[in-house]
Amino acid sequence: MINAKEALQKLIDGNERFVNNASIHPNRSQETKDSLLSKQTPFAIVLSCSDSRVPLEIIFDAGLGDIFVIRTAGHVLSQEVMGSIEYGVVHLGVKLIMILGHDNCGAVHSAVDAYKSKSLDTVSPNLKSILMEIYPAIEKVNSDLKEEDFHKEAVRQNVEYQAKDLLIKDAYIANKVSTGEIMVVKANYNLSTSRVEIF
Ligand SMILES: [Zn+2]
Repeated sequence: MINAKEALQKLIDGNERFVNNASIHPNRSQETKDSLLSKQTPFAIVLSCSDSRVPLEIIFDAGLGDIFVIRTAGHVLSQEVMGSIEYGVVHLGVKLIMILGHDNCGAVHSAVDAYKSKSLDTVSPNLKSILMEIYPAIEKVNSDLKEEDFHKEAVRQNVEYQAKDLLIKDAYIANKVSTGEIMVVKANYNLSTSRVEIF
């Protein structure tokens, strides 16, 4: 298993190929499929948004068996999400966890709208649970910012918040991070440049 820094470099390199329209679409052959029948050894865990414009294997130019993917709207945490991250670390030996936000995140926008208009109670309970997970991030945004800047900053704060919250709520992951066994990185996918920017 490659270490966290090597894994991060692999993600960066793959994204660079994608940015430059030079994707090589690795690990999609019959040989790869056969080799993955009984085991998987992904090199990274990525928690990102469900947004259809952020398909991880495409933006990181990765293939089958490469990335252990967890996606929820607004990449919010839940017990199941944290359990999935732990599974990747414990059972698959992955050393790198990336929390990836993206520009114009609809989940963050919805949370901002509900927050500003105080209309949280008009959405369904399940949607509400997502928006409530984003609220603490919005509370950190300077309320004087103009709308566009406010949304942009809310997206960034949501990545910061979810990454921080992971270490607060998941003692197992926090311990592994503190001993240097694994690494958590925060990043944002820029929709207009296709580039993943590491915080
Ligand atoms: Zn999103």
